[in-house]
Amino acid sequence: MDFRLDPEVEAFRKEARAWIKQQIPPDWDQRERLLDYEEPDGVVFSMDFQRKLAQKGWLVPHWPKEYGGQGDHMKHMVLTEELAYWGLPSGGQPVNQVASILMAHGTDEQKKHFLSGLAQVKWKWAEGYSEPSGGSDLANIQTYAVEDGDDFVINGSKIWNSAHIGPDYMFGLVRTDLNQPKHRGISFLIWPMNVPGIAISKVPMMWGRSRALVTFDNMRVPKSCVIGERERGFYVAMGSLDVQRATLDRLANARRLADWLVEYARVAKFDGQKVIDRPGIRNQLAEIMMAVECYKMMIYKVAWMQSKSIPSTRESSIAKIFGPDLMQRACKVGMQMIGAYGLLEPGSKWAPLYGKIENQYLENFARTIGSGTSEINRNVVATRGLGLPRG
Ligand SMILES: Cc1cc2nc3c(=O)[nH]c(=O)nc-3n(C[C@H](O)[C@H](O)[C@H](O)COP(=O)(O)OP(=O)(O)OC[C@H]3O[C@@H](n4cnc5c(N)ncnc54)[C@H](O)[C@@H]3O)c2cc1C
Repeated sequence: MDFRLDPEVEAFRKEARAWIKQQIPPDWDQRERLLDYEEPDGVVFSMDFQRKLAQKGWLVPHWPKEYGGQGDHMKHMVLTEELAYWGLPSGGQPVNQVASILMAHGTDEQKKHFLSGLAQVKWKWAEGYSEPSGGSDLANIQTYAVEDGDDFVINGSKIWNSAHIGPDYMFGLVRTDLNQPKHRGISFLIWPMNVPGIAISKVPMMWGRSRALVTFDNMRVPKSCVIGERERGFYVAMGSLDVQRATLDRLANARRLADWLVEYARVAKFDGQKVIDRPGIRNQLAEIMMAVECYKMMIYKVAWMQSKSIPSTRESSIAKIFGPDLMQRACKVGMQMIGAYGLLEPGSKWAPLYGKIENQYLENFARTIGSGTSEINRNVVATRGLGLPRG
C-alpha cells in the first residue's frame, strides 16, 4: 500500500479539523478528562455529538451507498482519527462493529431496522462477550438459551461491559445448543435490554469509573434476535474482532498522549532545567514519537485492508499488541516526568495537564486486556500469522 494519502483526502482532513475545532466545547481541556464515554453522562454527550456528525453526513461515510453511506473509507478513517485526537467521539463500536456484522450476516428485516437506527444514533449499546468465568476463551461461554416456542429463555451472566449506561440493546454470544462441541453450539444475538429478568451491577475500575456485571434470570427474547446462522455465532463474532482491535481512534489516542508529554516537557522545569532538556527524558520521548509513527503504519495498513475486504486478523492482532504496550510505556514516562504530582486526579487544580497523565496511566492498564489480551493476540499471531501449531 501507499502510506501517503491522496491530496483530496488531506484536503478533507483540513476541512474536518477546522469543523472539529469549532465544535470543541469551552473548557474542554479540563472537562474532557472527567467524561467517560462508557459512563451515563459521557454517553449523553457522545450521542448528541454523533447526531451532529450524522446531520453533516459524517457518521457513516464508510458504509456502502445501499445502506445510506458514501462508500468512502478514507473519509471515515480521517474523521475517526481527527475526532479522537481532540477527544471527541465518533460513531464507534455500533456503527463499525455492529453494523459490519449486520451487513454481513443480517436478514433484510434486521438490516432495515438496525442500520437505519444506527445511522440516526437511536440506541445505546453494550457488548456481551466476556463472562465472569473467563473472557479469553470465548468458545467456552456458559450463558445459555433454551427454546420455548418462538422465544429463547436465557440464563447466565456477562461482565466488563457498559450495561450500567442503560443500553437499549446488547449484542453478544449465547449458547443455543448445549449438545454441540463448544465452538459450534453458540449463536450471535442482538437482544433488547428492556425485558424482565435482567439485573445490572457496577464493577469499579481503578481509574474511578465503572463497568458492569449483568445477570440474566430467565430472560425471554424472540428467536429472531439471532444474527446470522444459528450455532455459527462464534465465527460471526470472530470476524468483528478484527475491526475492534485496530482502530484509528486508538492511534489518535497514542499520538495525543505523546503530544501531551512533549507539551509538558517543553514548559515544565526540574532543578531549574527544562524537562525536555534532560537527555534521559528526551531520548524516551523520541522513542515514543517513533513508536507512534510505527503504530500509524500498522493501523493504516489494517484500515486499508479492511476497506478492500482483505482479512486482517494477523495485522489487527499485531497492532493490538503494539499499541496498548506503547500507551503503557508512554504513560510511565509521563508519570516519571510529573513525579509526585502524578498522585493528583483530574479535577485537582494542581494536577499537571488537568490530570490527563494520571488518568491515562491508570486507564491504560486495561488496554492490554480489553478486546483480547496481549497473550491471546500473540497466540493469534503465532498460529494465524506464522502458522505455528496450537499449544
Ligand atoms: C476496561 C475493560 C472493558 C471491557 N469491555 C468489555 C465489553 O464491553 N464487553 C465484553 O464482553 N468484554 C469486555 N471486556 C473484557 C475483556 O475482553 C476481557 O477482560 C479479556 O478478554 C480477558 O478476559 P478475562 O478478563 O476473563 O481474563 P482471562 O481470560 O481469565 O485471562 C486471565 C489471564 O490468562 C491469560 N490467558 C488466558 N488464556 C490464555 C491462553 N490461551 N494463552 C495465553 N494466556 C492466556 C490472559 O492473557 C490473562 O492474562 C473489557 C475488559 C476491560 C478491562
